[in-house]
Amino acid sequence: MAHDAAAPIASGKVLIRNIGLLLSGDIARPILDADAVLVVDGRIAGIGRVKDLDSEGARTVIDAHGCAVAPGLIDSHVHPVAGDWTPRQSQLNWIDSTLHGGVTTMISAGEVHTPGRPRDVVGLKAMAIAAQRMFTAFRPGGMKIHAGAPVIEPDMVEQDFKDLADAGVKLLGEVGLGGVKDGPTARRMVGWARQYGIQSTIHTGGPSIPGSGLIDAAVVLEADTDVIGHVNGGHTALPDREIRCICEGCRRGLEIVHNGNERAALYAMRTARELGQLERVILGTDGPAGSGVQPLGILRMISLLSSLGEVPAEVAFCFGTGNTARMRSLDSGLIEVGWAADFAFLDRPQHGAGRTLLEAVELGDLPGVGMVMIDGIARTGRSRNTPPAVAVPEVVAI
Ligand SMILES: [Zn+2]
Repeated sequence: MAHDAAAPIASGKVLIRNIGLLLSGDIARPILDADAVLVVDGRIAGIGRVKDLDSEGARTVIDAHGCAVAPGLIDSHVHPVAGDWTPRQSQLNWIDSTLHGGVTTMISAGEVHTPGRPRDVVGLKAMAIAAQRMFTAFRPGGMKIHAGAPVIEPDMVEQDFKDLADAGVKLLGEVGLGGVKDGPTARRMVGWARQYGIQSTIHTGGPSIPGSGLIDAAVVLEADTDVIGHVNGGHTALPDREIRCICEGCRRGLEIVHNGNERAALYAMRTARELGQLERVILGTDGPAGSGVQPLGILRMISLLSSLGEVPAEVAFCFGTGNTARMRSLDSGLIEVGWAADFAFLDRPQHGAGRTLLEAVELGDLPGVGMVMIDGIARTGRSRNTPPAVAVPEVVAI
């Protein structure tokens, strides 16, 4: 198991030049007219033509060799447990493997696979606070893991949410995975959470594993969480009419996950498009799950929604980057001055039918990841998990 210390944020000045395509993550303007990015101390300091950027004194120069640079991908729905291990499939290094899928930020939807997970209020609060601390300090490969997401139980009171917030907890785990499965109780507690600055999500659809239950559209809408967790089910989706009812009945985030129903994923995305609300679509894996760990899950969802949902690839990338960043109030996921320098370097896979990265994705192929950068520091070279990219960046000066 990896035991990396918390990553230092001291990249100095970094110039990335010769970028063939710069994807912003911003659904209003997904492609930027630029061939270079300047980073200072882990933050984006300049975007433009290389001749216009002040790269004097750059400690690191990266030649992108014409590949694309996108914001690091964000997995809006994971279930971490302890370190880089999951008991769900008894697998090690799943977080590091996900980094090799271009993901730089993960958001916990509850540490629910923890063996012996406490259900009493004192225990569940303690576990959430501990998880928040542990995953802030433990970052395999520099991965940013927002964890510490308690699953609500019926005997919680308002003071519990205040205590959690005071202790640094910023997320609720999936409503419905604990003892609260009814709309009115969920709504009351989600309201308390929101009042103290804690974001919420809900399990949508049929039971995920024995012991969990159905959460239908009526409960989802009444609970009014910030994010509609796996609107395409995890695994089992609601009927189309209920998915439509959720999309039309609120303005909350519509999360589509890999560990869900793929037809329902396309239905939810098309419904959001019909409503002119594609900015609500965000992506997760729900991994580790019964269907396994999905290191390439976010890339696969981008490719699925783009190729079968007829969404331009540059827009599909926004589902897994800027849309989530805005909804979750992150400081990464967009390529804008001042944002964290978290990037995935991508290109079309070797011997694919697509002639460009975007065409390859629109044809349903996965991109190749050539490098992943977090806080301005190169964390991987060529990915060990994606197909090999045609163009791969190179560090030309350190
Ligand atoms: Zn989940």
